[in-house]
Amino acid sequence: MSVLLLNASMQPLNVISRRRLCVLLTKQRVALLSDEAELEAAAALAGRRLPEGIVMVRLLRTVHVPRRMLRPNRRNLLLRDDHTCQYCGFVGPASELTVDHVLPISRGGAANSWENQVVACKRCNWRKASSRPEEVGLHLRRPARPLTQEYAHILFLRYPELKQAYDALVA
Ligand SMILES: [Zn+2]
Repeated sequence: MSVLLLNASMQPLNVISRRRLCVLLTKQRVALLSDEAELEAAAALAGRRLPEGIVMVRLLRTVHVPRRMLRPNRRNLLLRDDHTCQYCGFVGPASELTVDHVLPISRGGAANSWENQVVACKRCNWRKASSRPEEVGLHLRRPARPLTQEYAHILFLRYPELKQAYDALVA
């Protein structure tokens, strides 16, 4: 399992590997959330092992995090649209889904904007081809908006098991 890195203020910052965790622990940049976990990690490091069972660590000093601008790439579009075809509601694995330009690029649609790209199943994308959705009887299930939520929100979409652990911590 991955490790959730928290700011000193307990805001989720990033997901890091166990190897990165070891570096941060060795440099004394992070603290574990309990004395027990702290002892276990120290013992593991002393034995040149990777600490086990750690889900969250906290930076000892607060870092300022600039607001991240998320790009409307395929991965982020799949997150925004919950792996759901925005025309028919089909939910499936990424391999079954495509990115559709609502107003086709060939007709002046923006190639790389949040508002003009949605996730579509292959069938709907094929049916739509180079038409506007309404021309072939398709309708967006919800408006295509930029993904502007906190970065933490994106992290938790990718790592639901860390969200559980974090929610339990801050509850
Ligand atoms: Zn569809």
